[in-house]
Amino acid sequence: MLEDTGLVFRRAAGAALGPLARWLTAGQPRILFYHRFAPDGGRALAPEAFEYHLAYLTRHFVPMPLSRLIEARRGGAPLPRRAVVLTVDDGYRDFLDHAYPLLEKYAVPATLYVVSEFAAGNLWLWFDRLRYVCEQAKVARLAVPGEADATAFPLGTRAERERAWDVLSSRCLTLRTAEREDLIEDLAAVAEVSLPAKAPHAFAPAGIDALRALDPALVDIGAHTRSHPILSMCSDPEVEDEVIGSVRSLTAALGRPVTSFCYPNGRPVDFDRRAIDAARAAGCTNATASTGMLLPAVANPFALPRFGAAHEASTFRHEMDGLTYLQSRLTGRHVDVPAGEMAGRAARPRPA
Ligand SMILES: [Zn+2]
Repeated sequence: MLEDTGLVFRRAAGAALGPLARWLTAGQPRILFYHRFAPDGGRALAPEAFEYHLAYLTRHFVPMPLSRLIEARRGGAPLPRRAVVLTVDDGYRDFLDHAYPLLEKYAVPATLYVVSEFAAGNLWLWFDRLRYVCEQAKVARLAVPGEADATAFPLGTRAERERAWDVLSSRCLTLRTAEREDLIEDLAAVAEVSLPAKAPHAFAPAGIDALRALDPALVDIGAHTRSHPILSMCSDPEVEDEVIGSVRSLTAALGRPVTSFCYPNGRPVDFDRRAIDAARAAGCTNATASTGMLLPAVANPFALPRFGAAHEASTFRHEMDGLTYLQSRLTGRHVDVPAGEMAGRAARPRPA
């Protein structure tokens, strides 16, 4: 009941203050990020919700390609007020099925960050393999190899399997690539799950041919490493291979320049100076992170802040309008990550 009252209040406040907040923050561009799209929702965004976003953005904001924002930041033509850039991470098949037709319908451009080896069909993403293990486990409790049995995850309900994935995927973010792969393989063995070599349909990529066929004026392809490691946990040669290798292989496969990069997971702890230098060395003009809200007047073009598009409509409007940002300024609260995100709203803690 209290929650309902809070939601009603927020809706009323948003409706009254939204236009003022948009006006006050109109000079600060927003970069939004999305991940997955599916009609049954869950952690993925339903196409109807995405269409609502696009209708709201085209009505109240000025959607533009990321390249336009970068040009302006490099001294080119100034941006219009209320500029917004859309980005989508990872390069799943569901982008083609559910998001691309709506981007076409509303003529809203987007940057799609692609994991190059995933797009090439050579691997599926590690957090999806972990999810598959948790979803398909044939045991009642998932014990982590080498740890006390008391720490095993119960898997009796869908929510328990989801929680196991949440905790284990967060743990994987702190591991080096080889340690992470060993853990996932060990967990699969304990769970009596055989991991397919290719991504099952639910976790399938948009393949290179399909990416090549997208209208480049509508969808710009950016790189998102070769295998989606946490770059701060990688060795120097791994960082170079993952960053420069992904830009080069996508450039070759698509037959056009790839000039944008996105750090996997994208929190400040997930990338470092080596990753920034590698993105620059790869010939990129910019790179995006996954924290922050509105763009400040001066921002490092290789650590551009983005925020996850909220699934719930009134939260989406609040954050887009700049109300959440202004509230944080007024109360002195720092908002690197929108509060709802950590509660799982936009699939956090989710490898991004
Ligand atoms: Zn990602």
